[in-house]
Amino acid sequence: DWMERQLLQQAKEAFVSGRARPLEFRLQQLHALQRMIMEKETEISTALKQDISRSQYDTPLLELISIENEIKLAIEKLAQWAAPRPVEKSLFTISDEVYIQPEPLGVVLIIGAWNYPWALTLIPLVGAIAAGNAAVVKPSELSKCSSLLKYLVYLQDLYPVVTGGVSETQQLLRLRFDHIFYTGGSTAGKLVMEAAARHLTPVTLELGGKSPCYIDKDCDVRTACRRVTWGKFVNCGQTCIAPDYILCEPCIQGQVVEFIRETLLEFYGADPKCSPDYGRIINQEHFNRIMSLMEGYTPVVGGQSDSSQWYIAPTVLKDVPPHSRLMQEEIFGPLLPIVTVSDMEDAINFINEREKPLALYIFCSDQKAIKRMIEETTSGGVTVNDVMMHYTVSSLPFGGVGQSGMGHYHGKHTFDQLSHQRACLIRSLKMERVNLARYPPQDRRRARR
Ligand code: NAD
Repeated sequence: DWMERQLLQQAKEAFVSGRARPLEFRLQQLHALQRMIMEKETEISTALKQDISRSQYDTPLLELISIENEIKLAIEKLAQWAAPRPVEKSLFTISDEVYIQPEPLGVVLIIGAWNYPWALTLIPLVGAIAAGNAAVVKPSELSKCSSLLKYLVYLQDLYPVVTGGVSETQQLLRLRFDHIFYTGGSTAGKLVMEAAARHLTPVTLELGGKSPCYIDKDCDVRTACRRVTWGKFVNCGQTCIAPDYILCEPCIQGQVVEFIRETLLEFYGADPKCSPDYGRIINQEHFNRIMSLMEGYTPVVGGQSDSSQWYIAPTVLKDVPPHSRLMQEEIFGPLLPIVTVSDMEDAINFINEREKPLALYIFCSDQKAIKRMIEETTSGGVTVNDVMMHYTVSSLPFGGVGQSGMGHYHGKHTFDQLSHQRACLIRSLKMERVNLARYPPQDRRRARR
């Protein structure tokens, strides 16, 4: 692990030198990152086209715009975010200075997943830079983009990119960082947290899980299905906040299937395999895993596959039993099971009997029912009458709860997550008489009273 140590050492020394501290320096680095994204947009999109056959249009739309927005926001707000925040005083501190000073933590380790290799590493990096930290970035080895990332994100020795798989990541995890920001599955997430515990390093874990999508019978089911179809099948279903499964009443199940079928035809044509807008699975292992989830079921839409291309057609399965394997693990692929429930209350119970999801989607036109469903369930985030869009709102904290993760980011939330909120109290040496009450000997003073 000589190389990892060396890079960490360099980053640490660069951090300790104080170079990353001045706001002008942070702004400069953010501008450099911004320029790189703008200049290399085509190169980045082409890499993802080769990787998972993602549409040329989707990479800017799904990854690059959100990175650019995060950079723009950080540049615009940095002075405000980094400024000391005066807080409320008590009677005893009325003449003191009382404030919170955000300060950098040190060196942050960022470990990313392959499904959105740019956003999942660079959005945390934007926050790390803004907060004045150094950072070691470890993209996923499964994405061919990780080498491109290493080649393009060359800012300073403060922010090295380390490529490699499980063994390199484990080497890194033996070293001592000041914060670890991890995005990926929960199995590796547990190993990350275990390794972090050895150094008492705090972690942010952005994990996955099964995000439910409830469609109410009294809403505009056609529009709902259109939005769900986009969110489920974009990036070939390999999105952490994709709607994992649909919950609806039996009376609209047939309608839901037909509207999704209609939308798929509109989006990807009669044969999605030939569509430039439809992607592929990342590798053979994931292809096999997803195919095995379908075993024993007859899809009502799709179901075709081609292992030579790791192609799986957009697939819908209806009347899926709640205890089937399809309903146990995160699908992370283009299979959409529909589970029927008797009403909204039944849907709420269904959700609450399972792990707390990363996202929850509710399609409903009754405002009271919407509020009730939000109130009686929990999830990392929720979008009503659409899917995934809460991710794009920088002012909303993005992250999981329970098994879907801990900590959150985006916008100022990333800055705060990667800063120490230092409590500062500045008093004066005057007015000593006020302090007498706390000094011993207490009995003498009481006697004096
Ligand atoms: P993964 O767990 O396979 O890998 C994530 C990272 O951990 C990679 O960089 C990988 O190199 C590293 N890693 C893998 N095994 C490791 C080990 N044994 N020890 C140390 N490091 C290891 O995850 P993935 O397949 O890349 O991503 C899919 C998962 O990530 C899904 O569950 C998805 O929901 C989740 N995800 C979550 C978010 C989010 O923002 N919450 C975003 C994208 C993906």
